[in-house]
Amino acid sequence: MARIDLHLHTRYSDGSLMPGEVVDLAHQAGVTALAITDHDIVDGIPHAMEAATPLGIEIIPGVELSSRLDGQELHVLGYFFDWQDSAFRERLAQQRLSRNARIPQTIERLNALGLELSEADVKAKAGSGSIGRPHVAQALVVKGYVQDTREAFDRYLKEGAPAYVPRILSDTRDVIGWIRNAGGVPVLAHPAWTRCQGEPLYRLCACLKEAGLLGLEVFYSSHNRKQTSRYLELAKRLDLLITGGSDFHGATNPAIQVGRGKGNLKVPDTLLPPLRHAASS
Ligand SMILES: [Zn+2]
Ligand SMILES: [Zn+2]
Repeated sequence: MARIDLHLHTRYSDGSLMPGEVVDLAHQAGVTALAITDHDIVDGIPHAMEAATPLGIEIIPGVELSSRLDGQELHVLGYFFDWQDSAFRERLAQQRLSRNARIPQTIERLNALGLELSEADVKAKAGSGSIGRPHVAQALVVKGYVQDTREAFDRYLKEGAPAYVPRILSDTRDVIGWIRNAGGVPVLAHPAWTRCQGEPLYRLCACLKEAGLLGLEVFYSSHNRKQTSRYLELAKRLDLLITGGSDFHGATNPAIQVGRGKGNLKVPDTLLPPLRHAASS
C-alpha cells in the first residue's frame, strides 16, 4: 500500500520550504500523492504540480482555512476543489486580509512593551505569501528578543499573552460552504486540537456534517494510536470520509517529516478514491 500526505505547508503560508522542495521530500519519502494545504492561499499549487509531474506524483488541490464556531477556533481542510474558481479565490483573499489585519495591532502592542519591531521586519519574513503570527515570531528571533519562535509565542503572541490580538474568523459552517461551492471536499482538521472530545466532539461533527462537512482528519502526526482509533470510529459513526497528513511546516517544526510525521505516520493511498468520488459527485 502506497503512502500519501494530505496536509503540508509551504512558504506560501507559514512553512519554511518552497512547494518544489516539499515535493522532493515527498518523493524521497515514497509519497505517491500529496496536497499542499497552505493557510488561506492556493498559489503554491501550480508550483507543486510543476515539480511533481516529472516525478509521477499526484498533486491534489488543497487548502486549510481557519474558522470559528461557538467561540472555538476550528481548521477546515479542503480537497479536490477547483483551485482556479474565482469566487473561492475571492474568499481566500478576504481571509488573508483578516489575517493581515491583526498584524499591525500586534506590532503596536509589542512596541508598547518596548520591543522595537516594524511591519517591514515582519513582511521581510513573509515574502510574497500570506502574513501571520509565525512571521512576527521569526522577526522577534532575528531581532534577538527571543531565542526561538516557540518563546515568541509563549511570551508574547499566544492567546492570553500581552501582544495577542484576536483574529476575526468566519463561521465554520460558511467556510465548509465555500469549499463545497468550489466543488471540493471539506474536512475537519486535527480533531485532537478541538476543545471538546468524546460525545461533544461527536455532536460538533454531526452539526458540521449538516452544514456540508464530508470528512475527518483521522491520521495526523500528533494523534496517538488511541486517538486515531477513536477518530476512525467517529468517522464511521457519522459516515464521514477519512483523511490524513503530517502538517509538515519544515524548519518551523523540524520534528515532523513529510509523509512520515513524527516517524510512524502512514496515510494509505486507499483513502483517495472515496475522496475523489465525493468531489465529483
Ligand atoms: Zn491546522
Ligand atoms: Zn496545517
